[in-house]
Amino acid sequence: MLIICIRTAATNLVDTGTMRDSSAVGVKPLEIVKKHVFFDPGKNKGWQSRPELPESSEILAAQAATEELPENPVDKAWESKAAYLEAHYKILRREGYEGLRYSVTEYKKSVKQGKEMIDDDHTCVYTHVHVKTYLFTQLGPIVRVEFSTRQSRYQIKWQQSKRLTPGTIVAITTKADNFGKICKIATVAQRPYRDGLDQDPPLVDLMWANPEDAVFDPDLELVMIESRNGYFESARHALVGLQHAAQTESPLDKYLIGAYTRDTPPSFVLEQPEMDFRSIAHHVVEGDLDSLRPLRSHNVLTEGITYLKDMTTLDESQLEGLRQIVASELAIVQGPPGTGKTFTSVQAIKVILATRQKFGGPPLIVAAQTNHALDQLLTHCLDAGANILRVGGRTESPRVEACTVYETRQRYKETADPQHKAFSNTRRTIINAIQELVSSIFGDRLLSPAALLDAGIVSQAQHDSLFDDTMDTNQEDLERGPLSLWLGNNLIEAHLLRNKHKSWPQREEAEAKMVLGEFEFDGDLDNIADDEEDQDRIYGTLVGLAHKWSGKEPADSSSWGRAVARQLAENDDLFEIDHDLRGVVYQYFQAELLAALTPKFTTLLARYVEICKQIKANKWDRDTQLVKMGRIEVVGCTTTGLTKYRGFLAALKPRSLLIEEAAETREANITSAIYPSLQQLILVGDHQQLAPQCDIRWLGDEPFNLNISLFQRMVNLKMPFVMLKQQRRMKPELRYILSPFYPELEDHPVVLSYENRPDVPGMGGRNCFFFDHAWPEKIDSDQSKKNEQEAQMITHFFAYLVANDVPASKITVLTFYNGQRKLVLSNLKRYPTLIGYQFKVCTVDSYQGEENDMVLLSLVRSPQPERGFDVGFLEDQRRAVVAISRARRGFYMFGNVENMLRAHMGSYKLWGRIWNGFAEQGRVQRKKGLPIVCQKHQKELWIREVDDWGDNAGGCDMLCKEMRSCGHLCTLKCHHLPHDQLLCSQACHKILGCGHGCEGFCNQQCSCSCPEFRRIRIQSDAASARLSEAIAGNKMTFEEKLLKSGASKSLIQANMSSRGLSSIMRNTSDPQDRGSQMGGKPLDVQSFEAWQHFTSNVQAHDESLRQQRLTLSSTLTSPDGTNSGSSTPVIKDIYQPTTLVQGRRTGNGAKSMQLQSSRPQTPNKSGQSAQDPGTNIGMSALTTLLPIRPAANPAGERRGTTNPSSGVSALPTMLPIRPVVSPTVKSHGTTNPNTGLSAMTTLRPIRLAATPAVESYGTYNPNSGVSAQTQSPNPHKSVQGRSPAKPPTIPQDDDEEWLIEL
Ligand SMILES: [Zn+2]
Ligand SMILES: [Zn+2]
Ligand SMILES: [Zn+2]
Ligand SMILES: [Zn+2]
Ligand SMILES: [Zn+2]
Repeated sequence: MLIICIRTAATNLVDTGTMRDSSAVGVKPLEIVKKHVFFDPGKNKGWQSRPELPESSEILAAQAATEELPENPVDKAWESKAAYLEAHYKILRREGYEGLRYSVTEYKKSVKQGKEMIDDDHTCVYTHVHVKTYLFTQLGPIVRVEFSTRQSRYQIKWQQSKRLTPGTIVAITTKADNFGKICKIATVAQRPYRDGLDQDPPLVDLMWANPEDAVFDPDLELVMIESRNGYFESARHALVGLQHAAQTESPLDKYLIGAYTRDTPPSFVLEQPEMDFRSIAHHVVEGDLDSLRPLRSHNVLTEGITYLKDMTTLDESQLEGLRQIVASELAIVQGPPGTGKTFTSVQAIKVILATRQKFGGPPLIVAAQTNHALDQLLTHCLDAGANILRVGGRTESPRVEACTVYETRQRYKETADPQHKAFSNTRRTIINAIQELVSSIFGDRLLSPAALLDAGIVSQAQHDSLFDDTMDTNQEDLERGPLSLWLGNNLIEAHLLRNKHKSWPQREEAEAKMVLGEFEFDGDLDNIADDEEDQDRIYGTLVGLAHKWSGKEPADSSSWGRAVARQLAENDDLFEIDHDLRGVVYQYFQAELLAALTPKFTTLLARYVEICKQIKANKWDRDTQLVKMGRIEVVGCTTTGLTKYRGFLAALKPRSLLIEEAAETREANITSAIYPSLQQLILVGDHQQLAPQCDIRWLGDEPFNLNISLFQRMVNLKMPFVMLKQQRRMKPELRYILSPFYPELEDHPVVLSYENRPDVPGMGGRNCFFFDHAWPEKIDSDQSKKNEQEAQMITHFFAYLVANDVPASKITVLTFYNGQRKLVLSNLKRYPTLIGYQFKVCTVDSYQGEENDMVLLSLVRSPQPERGFDVGFLEDQRRAVVAISRARRGFYMFGNVENMLRAHMGSYKLWGRIWNGFAEQGRVQRKKGLPIVCQKHQKELWIREVDDWGDNAGGCDMLCKEMRSCGHLCTLKCHHLPHDQLLCSQACHKILGCGHGCEGFCNQQCSCSCPEFRRIRIQSDAASARLSEAIAGNKMTFEEKLLKSGASKSLIQANMSSRGLSSIMRNTSDPQDRGSQMGGKPLDVQSFEAWQHFTSNVQAHDESLRQQRLTLSSTLTSPDGTNSGSSTPVIKDIYQPTTLVQGRRTGNGAKSMQLQSSRPQTPNKSGQSAQDPGTNIGMSALTTLLPIRPAANPAGERRGTTNPSSGVSALPTMLPIRPVVSPTVKSHGTTNPNTGLSAMTTLRPIRLAATPAVESYGTYNPNSGVSAQTQSPNPHKSVQGRSPAKPPTIPQDDDEEWLIEL
């Protein structure tokens, strides 16, 4: 980029400008860093003086004194900054420790009741906790403890578990005290799996909150409590940041505290309003520099920017957003789905950087809630040619990886820093002192009499008595020390004494159990331990704390405690002590000496902590030099990083901070990151999509409002903000569904063009559809929700789209529940025609900011028999908005609309609007289901039940009947994919090398059960192994390849589809190759003998298939009948014995082969076991995938056979509901909105539901608020109390378009 150095005066201006900001300029970076690392909030300053980590008194407090918490009003200005910060501090702190406080209280309760506490949804209890070693790392002293998980009653899958995540706080007490008085706080420092959690007992590394709490006695039995609610690390740094923020003023205070609503430029822009806008002129003809000239110094305060419209790809609202970002002190840009908010941010960043190159200035800080979004933003910055620094190490992008602090340090090899060296030496000295101390107790030698004397444990006389030269000493005694002789045979190795607690048989734990009922967070451990320094932690000096020696206990060990004290008091000569008692006397010495030395340990530990802080400050200071050396223009980190690295970032004296995904970021995380030098805060996000998440539910709501982001609060307070208006993602048909939530949203021309957004193939021009069903939901082993039939329906539909040539990578399955996510994924993975593909199956929360061509949304929820209508967090409008706005070309929704409408007023309004978006476009047909239209004949088919997919091959129900290249007639139903991509399922008719006819099928490896064939195959396997290399990248035909490899002619025949080759074939994309494999010629039967052998093989084969099927179909009928659906008849129907016609087999044994072959591929470890009847049934439909003849029963008939008790048969349960016309509903207006009963107020007749079916619903009583559930065959009976019986809008008539009155 061309840098023209004009107006050096302006540079001065900026400098003098910032000079006025007292807190920023003039302070050396090191001072700022030190102020953070050695933060001293001062004494007696209330909340500002609180330590970083919770205090034991907070955890031991029995009552959650909510009344003490200040409120957090989000609809008005604050009276003072102090009040504002204090409220956020206290609420956030409570959130950080409330879970642990609750868990400790529960533990104490069970101790009081004399019960052993077992792990539950809130609490993990670890017993038999012992300290093992200390690890002295650069980051501080880490204690490694062993523990037992017997209270979990399950075996923990640590690699998937969220237990003991680094950064979590734990409370530790002694077994004896059981949180009576002792409550030590520690944080999890790291949890290495290898040589850590994989051990028995497992080990984990902790950091003591206070060095004074450190435990050094390996024999002291501890208890450790962890809360499953809450993760302190995320709050911890923000808390300290708020304390810092209380010490300085900021130009942003007037907005955050004073609710000031005037759009004001930051002071540095006021002083230098001319910015370089050339980077956004995308359409300027090369050489047309004249038009660019005015852009070089464009005054953002006086000149409008809409005149740029013709030069740029930015639309008007994006230009307006860009102007806000570069020119407002507090810039808020709302980007609805697909409106290009990251694009706009990046364009603005380019302008800022170009201007910065001209006039200089500190780097821009950018942050995002997730590592993923941050990396995306930083990648754009890299594309724009910016020098970036990525702070915090958890990046998955190799390009960004090269810009981490660690990598940057490597690039600018600094000269050895003398101060760092001095600190390191001091650190070493302290470690040495600790090691020395430790070895005096835990070393190879026995305790030193001098140490016992020093500690006052033995008297001078007793000490001297050990040094009697008249006694014989052997070499061993000399080495171990004087006490060795005295102990004699009472000396034993310590490990013999410790009776290790045994391991116990356990089942696997349902991990990631979501504690807050519906709160699902996707294993995304973003922001957790995002520290490139984490690697450093593993390295350090290990100091073990285990006694090597101990003394033997006497046989009757009842009352030796008193005996020890007496004998020690009475005897000046230690050799006078009873020989039998000396072992326990020695144990006594050990314990006493450890107690005596503990204060020394503690002191050393505290010194060690201090020196590590020095090292950290020194490192951060050098990193600020690095920013200068590397000419860093953009520094990026997560929003957690903003406060975690506050000292370093503040030392860079940034003046602008840009936050992406700001509507998901907690207010305190942003407020605590307002560094003294900051003059501008840029928030980019969308408060109508996801919001901040709060671990303690009641703190998220009124009046504490942790779920309200700063972004949303500012918008609510009428702060000027720009909303981007043109969406460039969704086909208009899809955008229409989103419109109720963003009425102002417009379509960019790009989505109007058919070329850019072609119709979904195989759907007859219906690019969106709402498939409504009444299939029941279930709870999986992780307490998450799933819906088996819905998952099967989606799996079949996915396969249908793929069969219509939609790449699997272009389809995303979205769901709100992790249970459903796992189920759909495992179904897809084992679906025969989809094997080998990669799938995108995501939860909605993790898919924020993403998009794909096709999105299939699984709503999962249906009434459970005991709970009635319930939608859980599907009621959250922001989540729903994310879910319905991810697709570019095709959007298909699967769910139980009746449940959505009846569950609750909120969900009625929300999903009613979404439903109408489909209905108004004719994209719902409740009775008919989901329409598919084949590409070949344009024939329309309706899919209502899972089994309706039957043997669908990607088209309609007509037969293909075309001749395949193998010589068989195609038996598939209408399909879109060419034959060479579809395996032939008919009997193979090759004559093998053994002279017999093949016993297999066209799509399988050839086989014969005779010994000769086996012999040949062993040879050929070896040959094909040799071949595989030759074939790679080689375009020979197979025959050529075989011949070249020296295989004999007969071998070739045997080999044509033997395992080695056929697998190679499948991996070869060259259709020629595939053709030659398929193209084995129909063989004549050469001899009577061969023929006989062939037929008997076939008969045996048939019989075994039949048996398999019968077994299978009986296992499919599960006892409660809920799973079986109508699959069993399908299986029976399609079975047809093989017959031999003119030397060829016909019949459908192949289908069972299909089933068979798909079974071993079933991943058994995926949590969804193969025995799960539900899963198998889903797949049973696959047996028809490669059919020989059309299934006997048309889909419609089969539906009739559905087990009525299963609740699966959708149609009978859809009772007509009488429209409520009564005006009396108004009287319900005062109903408590939380119960959902208030729903009555808005229940109005549905627009077009004047159906005659009303009669069958005669018992509905509008006044009772409880609908005629009792009269209904609908199994969802117990709605009373929980769900409002919403009399809604479930019309019956297919032909009638119906809408929900909102
Ligand atoms: Zn067709
Ligand atoms: Zn065909
Ligand atoms: Zn064939
Ligand atoms: Zn064969
Ligand atoms: Zn044979």
